[in-house]
Amino acid sequence: MGKKEQILLTLDGKYTGYIPVIPVANTFAARWSGKPMGEVMSNSELYAQAVIDCRKHFDYDGLWVNGFGGVAAALGQGLTDKFGQESLTGEGVILTRESLEQLHEFRADQDLNLDGMINAIRMMKEQEPDQPIFTVVSSPASTAAVMMDVGNFYISMIKDPEFVKEVIRRITEPLVESVKMLARAGVDVIWNPMPTLSGTCISRKLYEQICRESNMYFNEQVRKCGLRLVAHACGKWDDRFDLLFGEGNDGVHVSECNFQEVCQMYGKDTCIMGDIPSVPIMLFGTPEEVYQTAFGNCMEALSYGTFILSPDCGMPPDVPYENIEEMCRAARDAVEKIGK
Ligand SMILES: [Zn+2]
Repeated sequence: MGKKEQILLTLDGKYTGYIPVIPVANTFAARWSGKPMGEVMSNSELYAQAVIDCRKHFDYDGLWVNGFGGVAAALGQGLTDKFGQESLTGEGVILTRESLEQLHEFRADQDLNLDGMINAIRMMKEQEPDQPIFTVVSSPASTAAVMMDVGNFYISMIKDPEFVKEVIRRITEPLVESVKMLARAGVDVIWNPMPTLSGTCISRKLYEQICRESNMYFNEQVRKCGLRLVAHACGKWDDRFDLLFGEGNDGVHVSECNFQEVCQMYGKDTCIMGDIPSVPIMLFGTPEEVYQTAFGNCMEALSYGTFILSPDCGMPPDVPYENIEEMCRAARDAVEKIGK
């Protein structure tokens, strides 16, 4: 069985005698390549090559296509943002209901950002056909937060929830269209980070009333494309894990949580991903601390279900190389210890 098949089966909840190690290593790979970060991140070929070479060098799993901010930019580029400036990214351009009327039409086949991603995917498939390709696509509600400006998004949730729902509705189909295009290009897994929808930012009630339905619809559409889906519960989700784990994700990439409790409660039905603290352990910890945390995570999670070992958020660009080697070694040792 190839690596890609093993990893996809892991996400389907089937243990294959292998623990995938998949750090979210996009900026890390760009830094590792030794070229200027800005240049790599804005050039799809340089970027793809950095990701491919870096993965091979450390022998972890998975390739990351650079995050897709394209829908916000495609819909809102050139509109006036909250500072009165012409926006390049579509951030903060939907401040009132009237601004909804000004959004551009979305054409997936004419989107330059998407074009660059597809180019990177092609290179990855050619050079590493046995590695799954992950890409970052934010949910409709998270994208709405960006386009409305987060402060305005939170205030509107309380003062005018129908407005927020309308923005989410307007953004949903363009996002689904993009996902379809990425699926055709050969992406395997959508990774959906939701820091702005966490308990660190909004109440469980607001999440449930305003964001959840669109998350579930979006997830369903992603899975209809034949893609796997991993939600990244970035920040505090303890008070709403029951909701998140019921939204049709194949995997949940956890962060600040009671890891044992989450594995115990949800690991049987959903693949868990995590949970090495990205900054205190991966970046600043000793190799020994990384090994102990990683090994502990594997043994804990594997006693309930399937698991992907990863830092608990994006891997910082300056993580010491030895810490990555220790993370990979811990996963191999855990498999040996389990003895299957
Ligand atoms: Zn995160």
